[in-house]
Amino acid sequence: MGMHKISNQQDLTAVTEKYTAKTTDYIDGLLEHPAMSRQYLPDMRELDISADENADPIGDVAHSPVKGIVHRYPDRVLLKPHHACAVYCRFCFRRDMVGRNGEVLSEDDLSKALDYIRDHKEIWEVILTGGDPFALSDRRLKHLFEALNEIEHVKMIRIHTRVPVADPKRITAELCKVINDSQKPVTISIHCNHANELAEAAQKAIKMLHQSGAVLVSQTVLLKGVNDDIDTLEKLFRELMINRVKPYYLHHPDKARGTAHFRLPLARGLEIYGQLRGRMSGICIPHYMLDIPGGFGKVTLDSAKVLIKEDHVEIIDHRGVVHIYKN
Ligand SMILES: *Cc1c(COP(=O)(O)O)cnc(C)c1O
Ligand code: SF4
Repeated sequence: MGMHKISNQQDLTAVTEKYTAKTTDYIDGLLEHPAMSRQYLPDMRELDISADENADPIGDVAHSPVKGIVHRYPDRVLLKPHHACAVYCRFCFRRDMVGRNGEVLSEDDLSKALDYIRDHKEIWEVILTGGDPFALSDRRLKHLFEALNEIEHVKMIRIHTRVPVADPKRITAELCKVINDSQKPVTISIHCNHANELAEAAQKAIKMLHQSGAVLVSQTVLLKGVNDDIDTLEKLFRELMINRVKPYYLHHPDKARGTAHFRLPLARGLEIYGQLRGRMSGICIPHYMLDIPGGFGKVTLDSAKVLIKEDHVEIIDHRGVVHIYKN
């Protein structure tokens, strides 16, 4: 993969030894845009770890009953079949668990994870994540789909992926056939942060995924210096809709280690988000989400649940408990 642009920079080995760096030819072709280089090129500031940052920012470990599974909400689980991605995003909330920091899930671990799903009848949806599920081979993905298809109470399969907009040539006819052959409905949530990511090859990949019969939605991370202004978000959400991808979540960035330079104050995020309503069709507008630090789960951010104070905000979770979130 084209790492030449990365190694030409200053000496960043201290960063890349800690957090894998990798791009694709497709991404390399887009790196002239600051919004793209910022997402993908390592930065010395990644070595600055602030006191409230954490290797497990949303508390996945506490909700992992067996290796490879995160079960926080009753009707759905995350299944992480591996920890490799096609690219490594510098702001990744799982950066201490993917790439060189990831532990491999053995065949045996995977079969125990599938046993867990089989044994828990309340699991309605299995969300494949990782790592990136589309970084698996077609053969492994097919086996996984076949195993899930055999579990009667699992009704939906969801895939969280960055591949369509990071390595679009990976979306092949063979991969689409695996999806098309699934007996259960498949939702694909595409992680896309900027309209520049939707160049021609990505649009074509998305079209192919549509033909595979999957429902396509998007997730975006709100990132300082990448997409933290109203015009950029408006353009992104309109482009996604035009490509028949429904904007689903806009995530406030998690407090992953060495990512402070990507975070904006939550009050600023609410201000930008509030402006979207006035500007664009409601169908284009995702939910603005925060995963409450400490493993308390996700909340949709709207003014009714958030009290803005001088140097922090107070967030009321789904149980009515108030959490202090420091900007
Ligand atoms: C985000 C997340 C999900 C998916 O949540 P949705 O609101 O259904 O998109 C599921 N499990 C865990 C542990 C999560 O963090
Ligand atoms: S593709 Fe997803 S999991 Fe992989 S580095 Fe990027 S944000 Fe993290």
